[in-house]
Amino acid sequence: MIMSTPALYLHKVERRFQEAGEPLEILRGAEFSLWAGQSVALVAPSGAGKSTLLHIAGLLERPDAGDVLVEGQCTRQMNDAARTALRRNSIGFVYQFHHLLPEFSALENIMLPQMIRGLTRAEAQGRAEQLLDYLGLKARGRHRPSELSGGEQQRVAIARAVANGPSVLLADEPTGNLDPKTADHVFAALTALVQATGLAALIATHNMDLAARMDRRVTLRGGLIVELA
Ligand code: ADP
Ligand code: MG
Repeated sequence: MIMSTPALYLHKVERRFQEAGEPLEILRGAEFSLWAGQSVALVAPSGAGKSTLLHIAGLLERPDAGDVLVEGQCTRQMNDAARTALRRNSIGFVYQFHHLLPEFSALENIMLPQMIRGLTRAEAQGRAEQLLDYLGLKARGRHRPSELSGGEQQRVAIARAVANGPSVLLADEPTGNLDPKTADHVFAALTALVQATGLAALIATHNMDLAARMDRRVTLRGGLIVELA
């Protein structure tokens, strides 16, 4: 298969903030391509701009200059409604903290984004059950987030992020709050899902062991995205 269009493409992306009156240049023309079926680790020190980059890639923030293309679609001219629709259909996000809705069961948390998108309750439940099963959580569907372990909560958050079949998964230190063994388990679930679904994943992490197992590693240097060996 010829894949001429990356799932995610950043072109000359710039982002700067003001800090105590001084300009803080986070991105200065960053270039990046993320291809379907690929998992890429984003490894950089705290404060380097990992979250900023993920928010721009996830259409949660606009860059000061440059383009973000999702499935080949340029998002620069899109209004907020169009960006939200594209984000909902094509991008999944996983945060360091799970952000599951506490009043709802694991199953319902995975069903909700699908129902917001227009699927019937039965369709959403079928897909949610499949995902829970795939992530080793079949017996946990009826439990609320507070009744789950940290690793289980993150696996449910991953299931929710991919429930609508996005082409891009962005994760911001998804195992940052977990002990090493649990992090390993969650990470294995994440990479298995990437391989099984042909997702493209960009995952910010401090964990070099986990990063070593991904297809590519990149860092932020001088406002650019640089490949690591
Ligand atoms: P990381 O996720 O790698 O720790 P961030 O992307 O959160 O880094 O932040 C990068 C830098 O940009 C930090 O110095 C942070 O303080 C600054 N920054 C992030 N967002 C804002 C903002 N909205 N306003 C001002 N400064 C910000
Ligand atoms: Mg961050």
